[in-house]
Amino acid sequence: MVDTGDLQFLANSIHAVTSPFRSYLNDLYDKYQSLDEGAVADYIPELALANPQWFGICVVTVDGQVFEVGDCDKLFTIESISKAFVYGLALEDWGREYVNTKVSVEPTREAFNSIVLDEKTNRPYNPIVNAGAIATTDLIKGDGATERLTRILDMFRRYTGRKHDINVPVFLSQKATGNRNRAIAYLMLNFGMVSDRIEETLDLYFQQSSIIANARDLAMMAATLANGGINPITKERAIDERYVQDAIGVMLTCGMYDYSSEWMYRVGMPAQSGVGGGITAVVPGKLGIGTFSPPLDAKGNSVRGIKVCEDLSKDFGLHLFNVAKPTHVLKDLIEGGDSVDRW
Ligand code: GLN
Repeated sequence: MVDTGDLQFLANSIHAVTSPFRSYLNDLYDKYQSLDEGAVADYIPELALANPQWFGICVVTVDGQVFEVGDCDKLFTIESISKAFVYGLALEDWGREYVNTKVSVEPTREAFNSIVLDEKTNRPYNPIVNAGAIATTDLIKGDGATERLTRILDMFRRYTGRKHDINVPVFLSQKATGNRNRAIAYLMLNFGMVSDRIEETLDLYFQQSSIIANARDLAMMAATLANGGINPITKERAIDERYVQDAIGVMLTCGMYDYSSEWMYRVGMPAQSGVGGGITAVVPGKLGIGTFSPPLDAKGNSVRGIKVCEDLSKDFGLHLFNVAKPTHVLKDLIEGGDSVDRW
């Protein structure tokens, strides 16, 4: 459980309604709350129960300031957002060279659930498509299912600063209907790309997808990566600093699936989306963004989440390759905090 001291600390760091940046976020929320596009994922039956109106935006700076609007306490399942983070854990367990023999880092231009492997090497293309994520999950060390899951959950605790659980109905729903993922896993088993504890690994994959979080958690996860792997509030290291760039890197090239290049062009922030409606976006050295809104576009990305990140990027010059750097606008909006002076 979360230490009440941590909660109090978090509550204290959430800015008063008067903060100009919070007003900006309120306007952003109002602008897109009425947007009526996209559809809630229903291929996992439990996800179809989500309310399309749920909408939350949270921004956490690397010095631990938290700004939020809307449904930032609403819990949902992180789905694919787990993937880049679990990839980081696999790298810690095995190192870059070995992991790279099991899963490549090339974008696919295919949907996240495509059944394609690199023809020459039989490797899945990247850790973000389901094939690559299942191969990555297979690499997570631990003595049996419980220990492997515990290690994954504990990693997410380090990123967010609070304990996480599995949504059991969503897990069972994914397990019951996940024959496509099962097929992908068995195809990889056929090629010797994953170990033969395949059902255990599939369960673990469905469980990591069913981890419960909220938009604030997603922003904290992104802010932790933006902060070199150290949670900006608890100051706990979540990932070995050597692998921060790898987790952010695969988000950059693959995190929005077959929308990743256009996202890079338009928004320019490494990000990871999940079919539960979450997006986590990293502005390295500056901040993390977490959005939650269940209606998805045809590629499986949250419609409102994309809009919010587009606006934040445009309005504050947060695109990674924006050399004009008008981030002073954001600096003016965020009151206090030493870190903004570095921008
Ligand atoms: N667990 C989901 C699946 O395997 C994750 C997909 C996603 O969020 N894009 O289909």
